[in-house]
Amino acid sequence: MSRPEILFPLFADLETLEGVGPKSAKAFAGLGVEKPKDLLFLLPHSGIDRARRASVRDVIPPTTVTVEVTIGGHFPPLNKGRPYRVMVQDSALEFQLVFFHARGDYLKTLLPTGQKRLVSGRVEVFDGIAQMVHPDHILRLEEAGELPQFEPVYPLVAGITQKLVAKAVTAALARLPELPEWIDPSQKAKEGWPNWIDAIRAAHAPKTNADFSETAPARQRLAYDELFAHQVTLSLARASMRKAKGRASVATGALQKTVMEALPYKPTGAQSRAVAEITADMANPLRMNRLLQGDVGSGKTLVAFLALLVAVEAGGQGVMMAPTEILARQHLHGLVELAALAGVRLELLTGRDKGAERARKLEDLAEGRIHILVGTHAVFQKDVHFQDLRLAIIDEQHRFGVEQRMELGAKGQSADVLVMTATPIPRSLALASYGDMDISVLDEKPPGRKPVQTALVSTGRMDEVVEKLRHAVAEGRQAYWVCPLVEDSEVLDYASAEARFQHLRAALGEGVVAMVHGQMPPSEKDAAMAGFVAGRTRVLVATTVIEVGVNVPNASIMVIERAESFGLAQLHQLRGRVGRGSAHSTCLLMYQAPLSEGGERRLKVLRDTEDGFRIAEEDLAMRGAGDLIGTAQSGLPRFRVADMERQTALMAVAQSDARKLLHDDPALASPRGRAVRNLLWLLDQDRAIRLIAVG
Ligand code: ADP
Ligand code: MG
Repeated sequence: MSRPEILFPLFADLETLEGVGPKSAKAFAGLGVEKPKDLLFLLPHSGIDRARRASVRDVIPPTTVTVEVTIGGHFPPLNKGRPYRVMVQDSALEFQLVFFHARGDYLKTLLPTGQKRLVSGRVEVFDGIAQMVHPDHILRLEEAGELPQFEPVYPLVAGITQKLVAKAVTAALARLPELPEWIDPSQKAKEGWPNWIDAIRAAHAPKTNADFSETAPARQRLAYDELFAHQVTLSLARASMRKAKGRASVATGALQKTVMEALPYKPTGAQSRAVAEITADMANPLRMNRLLQGDVGSGKTLVAFLALLVAVEAGGQGVMMAPTEILARQHLHGLVELAALAGVRLELLTGRDKGAERARKLEDLAEGRIHILVGTHAVFQKDVHFQDLRLAIIDEQHRFGVEQRMELGAKGQSADVLVMTATPIPRSLALASYGDMDISVLDEKPPGRKPVQTALVSTGRMDEVVEKLRHAVAEGRQAYWVCPLVEDSEVLDYASAEARFQHLRAALGEGVVAMVHGQMPPSEKDAAMAGFVAGRTRVLVATTVIEVGVNVPNASIMVIERAESFGLAQLHQLRGRVGRGSAHSTCLLMYQAPLSEGGERRLKVLRDTEDGFRIAEEDLAMRGAGDLIGTAQSGLPRFRVADMERQTALMAVAQSDARKLLHDDPALASPRGRAVRNLLWLLDQDRAIRLIAVG
């Protein structure tokens, strides 16, 4: 799809704008401005009141003042390092303009004695005399109209001044074309939004501070444009993914039934709902691209397994990828018996499989004798071939990048894809980063879970904590002890865990304490985990390797050292390791006093709630969207106008509108569809443009 001609002037070189040379064009890149159109979306963040005053005497300094003055005498500095002064007289007061390191001849032409000028700048009182140091503006009276009453202030980078931005923006605004409306007319009317061209102009010509608010109609419209363009892209991606020769995997439900009957519990309502959604989606010939979102302990594994059985019953195979070896093994242990019961062969493949045994597994897989493969990313190695892969599941996807999600899609050319995440993403973020997927939510936990009692304890009370732990162990309870990540270094990390391990072993007894961390040889890691799962060891000292997914129901105590150094989401995940059995559970958040204000606020949020969504919302409010899931990794866009924390509702509207538009007009060929193409160009939605191009 080629760029519409009407947009050409906005896509010309930046240097074609008056006042922009090669050097400043380069500097503009630092602001994300490469073409005239980018200037349109570079919005001022605040404004300066430049309303004319009769006299400096009317204001309380220090403050910014704009007055008309008559220029008096010039007083060059007597000594080097002293300023150059120019006396000026407004309607009621004489004051000084002050310049450091100024060239006298330049100032003489700029400020000729006896003439009138409009000056604007910050007025201060120094030694009882009002002065304006380096005025922001000095204008001849006939130019005075150029200075807006309320001057927008733009973000800057080195090599770019306010004046330069203002000039370049003015030049870019002069190229604004009238474009047909792309927003749904009823939505626009309901919100009272201006046309695009008026919104852009208004955003660059603020009248009051209220115009910078995200609720100002012009800003809101431009924010919506951004969210909408992003959602159109995601919807196009979704449509093209679904269209890609999907296949119908239809199951009778017999295998699911066999497994359900063997389970000691009933699925929760949310689990049944998710299984039904997934089963229906798989039966559909369109390719599934679905996110299963469920807080820690909500029972995603069972849902995944029942989905895998659909693939098997339809005559194909399924694969489930976990982010760590420990988790992959846990899936194997948890599922292998149930699978056998259903007559299904489930095998594990990880990086540790080598030689003849691995070759045999690969052969069995290629010939369809293995029905379900569980593993780490080793399941994606080039030589791994399936006979008929119908469903690919990624567990705990926040550990994987978007790339891997794509890779997995490529493996089974037409396999359905299910991504599972325990990160309770606030809705706005889910819409932004997973808008190309359909979402099933497990919003209900299995019954009988007891709340985890969470307490904040200072490191100073270490001995007390160890003493309590000794009692708990004597009562047959099990505990995790999580050591902090030291400066992101695996090695230091390991050293601190090792030291704590020795300490606890000395305090609690040799055979009682085990340790796992990322630097251990794999076999030792397995042995340590196995000993803890079987209850032979009672305390497991660990680095954050245990963060995701580990399931040991008898463990009822979680101690987290230096809890203040972890993120909220991570702490929530860690705490989710306990409270899984029938016993009463405790989580101790140990911190190093004194806590920073932010640190205290974070830990208190955790103490006060176990609701993952509330924690995620708080996290978002405290940290901002970019930090929350890591912009690059999540594929989360950088919005220039929209504020993802505060414009959640708009994001939802944008998604439903985008999906509806593409449903009605998949090729964007209608008049509104054509208008939307302009928007996609303006907002650099290249991915969308390519998708339209392939049709
Ligand atoms: P997560 O969503 O964190 O992956 P898991 O799938 O590991 O959760 O499940 C956590 C625990 O809950 C497991 O011990 C599992 O057997 C158990 N479980 C799952 N579904 C139910 C249910 N409907 N009723 C009772 N226990 C369940
Ligand atoms: Mg899990």
